[in-house]
Amino acid sequence: MLRVKLEIGERSAIVPDSIRFCFDVCSKGTIMEGALLEIDEIKAKGRCRHCRAEFPLNTLAAACPCGSREIECIAGEELKIKEMETE
Ligand SMILES: [Zn+2]
Repeated sequence: MLRVKLEIGERSAIVPDSIRFCFDVCSKGTIMEGALLEIDEIKAKGRCRHCRAEFPLNTLAAACPCGSREIECIAGEELKIKEMETE
């Protein structure tokens, strides 16, 4: 294993630093040992159900400029392995 790339949304409640730490500890003695860990942090993004506007989602209590509070989260909750490169 040479490289692992993760995508972590800022609203996933996962702290990238703790993933790095876990990765170092957990990969010892496995094929993952020594692999390069890359983490892409995904900014939270919301979309208004009313006017379909998209904007950065900073708080749970976000409201659309149109006044609607019916916001759906369309990005920022991911936690997935994006790429893996092996020898
Ligand atoms: Zn709106």
